[in-house]
Parts: sequence; structure tokens; C-alpha cells
Amino acid sequence: MQDNRLLIIDDDQDIGELFIDIGESLGYAVIHTDDPDQFKRYVREWHPTVIVTDLQMPNADGITILRFLAAIETPAKIVIISGMGPKIIHFAETIAQHRGLALAATITKPFVLAEVQAILDRLKAPSELAAEALRLAIENDEIQIFLQPKCQVSTGEVVGAEALARWVHPRLGIISPNVFMAIAELGNLTGPILTRVMTQAVAQIKTWSTQALDLPVAINISARDIDALDLPDHLEAICARAGVPCDRIILELIEGSSLDVSADALDVLTRLRIKGFHLSIDDFGTGFSSLLRLRQLPFSELKIDRSFISSIRSEDDSMVIVKTIIAMAASLGMNCVAEGIEDAATVQRLLEWGCSMGQGYYFGRPMPPDQFDEWMRSSGNTNTGSKKAMA
Ligand code: C2E
Ligand code: MG
Ligand code: MG
Repeated sequence: MQDNRLLIIDDDQDIGELFIDIGESLGYAVIHTDDPDQFKRYVREWHPTVIVTDLQMPNADGITILRFLAAIETPAKIVIISGMGPKIIHFAETIAQHRGLALAATITKPFVLAEVQAILDRLKAPSELAAEALRLAIENDEIQIFLQPKCQVSTGEVVGAEALARWVHPRLGIISPNVFMAIAELGNLTGPILTRVMTQAVAQIKTWSTQALDLPVAINISARDIDALDLPDHLEAICARAGVPCDRIILELIEGSSLDVSADALDVLTRLRIKGFHLSIDDFGTGFSSLLRLRQLPFSELKIDRSFISSIRSEDDSMVIVKTIIAMAASLGMNCVAEGIEDAATVQRLLEWGCSMGQGYYFGRPMPPDQFDEWMRSSGNTNTGSKKAMA
């Protein structure tokens, strides 16, 4: 049987045919149906790897379909496709996540062909070959950090940097973490990547310290890494070897993974904090954290997901959410960072609402470390305020 099997339920025949064309060109076996009973049979017997479901059909609705998929615990990646408004789509996403489905993407009709192509391409099972290639790339030092400035919203002053991993492939050029981290998760390679990123980040801090620059660096951690009980000692040893104090590092965990923690993970998070590492919740607003959970866990910073920041000027809901998160962070005594700031009008809004720190193309894109230094010099940043970025 083919590795990649795509099943789509949609009453629109044209859309069905389009998915067959795109899917097959990407190496999927594709089945389209508009009949819910037939759909259920295919799910049970054909075991699709990707399922695309419309929300509104004359003889079925997407919410019932999602309930069925959750009940049989399908491991398939789910894509919701709909022409309904953003609120309904958001509810459907929430339901899918609550029911434990692997929601992979949402497509709004009318859609751009290239968008569907990119999504389906991303959802293909990474082959053994891809994991092996990535393992070799890690050994050959092809995983390199890019640095994105983290700035004071009011002045633009740089108060830190986030290290974002890139696969600098000798033939294919720069590959995004959105592509290779999925391969890393499946191939058990997130640990070796973390070691590479952490080692480069502390080396960078060390270099800056010889130039009288004191900038903390944030690095991203996968959910699976915080279950390793030796993680705190491992990261501490990397800092110690470079002679860099642990409190110069902020560890970012994405919301869903960081707040629903096992006993081992809680042990790890607490020991990381005791050793001086700072902990930040990344992509805040995309998971389901309760205030109680936020209080219980040793995080000192939250980063508002870029999807809310990019839409605060056009969507009232996003505006309310962002304002509320900023106020909530302040009342919990946490630093708040807005991600994905792209224009001056957004900066203005965030300032009015009391958000002190931000990241985004407006301030600076992720850059190779030497370009980052060059950019710092040319933008007149000499950094005096790094302590402000810390809790
Ligand atoms: P993240 O940690 O939330 O990082 C922010 C992402 O938003 C980065 O994408 C950055 O390039 C992008 N970004 C920043 N400002 C803007 C903006 O103004 N507009 C837009 N459109 N985008 C902006 P990137 O570098 O592709 O990284 C994607 C994600 O991959 C990261 O999201 C992080 O979750 C993950 N990642 C990156 N490096 C690592 C790593 O070393 N380990 C792990 N586990 N995950 C990593
Ligand atoms: Mg991050
Ligand atoms: Mg983020």
C-alpha cells in the first residue's frame, strides 16, 4: 500500500477533483467521496494518512465527522476546509483539538492552489531517508542558528535574540525548521538538534561578552525533550564548558506542550529554573492554558502567537485577545513578548496596551550571526538593557 493516502469528503465535485490532481502529483493515493457512510468505511478499512473534511455538506456536517474520527482514534492528520466565517472555523479547530485529533491545517475557501499544494506536501510522511539525511546533516554541522532581535517596543532597543534553527543544505540551500523539525520529531533527532543550537547560542553569548555586549539568547525546545530527566544537567554542562551563566538563556516551549506536563516534565522544568535558566511559553494563545496552570508552572515569560498580532488591525477578536493576554501577563508578574510585529501601527497599539517587548520583521528578521552583529552596529544598538528582558 502507498505510504501517503489522502481521503477527502466534500460535496463539491470540483474540489474533489482538484485534490485528486494535487494529491496524485505529490505522490498520494487519493479518494474523494461526498457520502458519509462511504467515508467512514474508507477511514476504517483504507487507513488514510491525511483526511480532509468540509464543514458544511448537504448530507453530513464536519463536526459530526470530527466526532467520528475522534471516536475511532484515527492517527491521520486532519485538514479542515471550509467557506464558513473565521469564528465557525475556529470553533471547529477547537473541537478537533479538544477531541485529541491531529489537526494539521485549516483551508479557507476560496483558496490558492499553491497553499493546498504546500500543505499536502508538508503532510507527507517523512521517509527513513529524510531522517537519515538529517542525522548526517547534524553530524556535519549543517544545522546553524539564525538570530532574530527581541526589542523594547517603545524604543526598538535590542534586549535579546532568539536562536532559530536552519538546515543549511549544501545543495538545497536554507531549509526551514517547519520542514525539518517534523522529520526530527519522527526520527528522534530533536535532542541532537537542541545540543547543536544550545552550543552555538552559548558560543555567541561568549563572543558578545568579549565585546562588552550582554544579550540573553532564547532557544526553542520540543515537547519530547522536556521528558528527559537529564536535560537540566546536560544544558548546564554546555553553559559551563563555555563559561556562560545559565541565566543568559531563555528556553521557549510551545504552549500546548509546556502546560500539559507529566510529573517528569515538571521535575525537569523546576530543575531548569533552579539552575537559573529562564522559561518562556511560546505561541501563547494557540493552546488551552488555565490561569491556575500558568500560576503553578515556573514560567517567567509568555510570547503572544504571531497569528493574533498579525490580525489585530483587521479583527476585533484578535484585538481583545491580545489586550487580555497583555493584562493577564502583567497581573501574573510575567514578561510579555509580542511575536510577528510587521508594522508601525501594530507597535503603536501594543504600546497603548502596555506590551513592553516584541519581535518581528518590523524590528529585524532572523539573520546569520555575523549579519546580526553587522545589523546591530548599523542600527546604532549597543545594548545596555538586556537585564530588562529577564524576569
Ligand atoms: P517560533 O519559536 O514561534 O519562532 C518565530 C517564527 O516566526 C520564526 O519562524 C520567525 O522567523 C517567524 N517570524 C518572526 N517575526 C515574524 C514576522 O514579523 N512575520 C512573520 N510572518 N514571521 C515572523 P521560523 O524560524 O521558521 O521558525 C518556526 C518555528 O520552528 C519556531 O517558531 C519554533 O517553534 C520552531 N523552531 C525553530 N528553531 C527551533 C529549534 O532549534 N528547536 C525546536 N524544537 N524548534 C525550533
Ligand atoms: Mg520561539
Ligand atoms: Mg512563536
